Amino acid sequence: MKIFKDKQSLQKEIFKTKGISFVPTMGGLHKGHISLIKQSKKSKLKTLVSIFVNPKQFNKKSDFRSYPRNTKKDLKQLKKLKINYLYIPTIKDIYGFKPKERVFLDKFSKKLCGKFRRGHFEGVLNVINRFIEIIKPKYIFLGKKDYQQMYLIKKHIEKRKIKSKIIECKTIRENNGIACSSRNSKLNKDQMKIASNIYYYLYNLKKKIKKNYSLFDVNKIKKDLMDLGANKIDYIENYNIKHFKKIKKTDKKFNLFFAYYIKNIRLIDNI
Ligand code: AMP
Repeated sequence: MKIFKDKQSLQKEIFKTKGISFVPTMGGLHKGHISLIKQSKKSKLKTLVSIFVNPKQFNKKSDFRSYPRNTKKDLKQLKKLKINYLYIPTIKDIYGFKPKERVFLDKFSKKLCGKFRRGHFEGVLNVINRFIEIIKPKYIFLGKKDYQQMYLIKKHIEKRKIKSKIIECKTIRENNGIACSSRNSKLNKDQMKIASNIYYYLYNLKKKIKKNYSLFDVNKIKKDLMDLGANKIDYIENYNIKHFKKIKKTDKKFNLFFAYYIKNIRLIDNI
């Protein structure tokens, strides 16, 4: 595994290869990231993983500062996975140049997390646009756990006619049902249990909604989540996952999208 901290030396190395399979991350690696990396390795191209906690996608400085970082452990895991390249850029390496391509931000960026984290998706698209320009990956592996993010990145790529292809990867879960997330490391045992109960509640509810749409009663669901131990709920909404229209009646392809807090820990998922 070769490690790069600046784009010049990275490009010198990777532009010699046949193409790159790229897995962008913010570190704090877990089973979700690992499954993306394993899929990337199957592509036969060289796998490049980045670790960059992007300050521009955090709407609160305190959240950026306290984001779980564990580079030592990450390095150990990545070595074991035998990835080809690791890119750990500085903020200047990423933001010290003007990208050629303008970011395209689909209007869906105003919904769900976009409503509650101002500037979040502008920050996400800004950084991915820069990574694409630096790396020119053939494939980019993204997780469905962050479905809205994945959708918006796809829209940007389509609109700007970028040649990279997005590979959608399924959500990996802990044994207790909750989606693996770097932020889970902040949950204590009791809080894990709350998150797990909320997951199963919503998982079962989705099955019932499929049969009887009137069960999608947002106020009741929010109350139930608070009773289960959530401290604040940003949203619980349903969307058809192909075109992101709200469903009005039973629709096989809909997912429940939700974001809530346990104490000050914000968790998002979709089922
Ligand atoms: P992050 O480090 O949180 O920015 O995530 C990096 C990539 O890993 C993104 O494409 C995420 O959607 C993906 N990811 C995060 N958690 C999971 C998970 N539990 N299952 C699958 N992919 C995930």
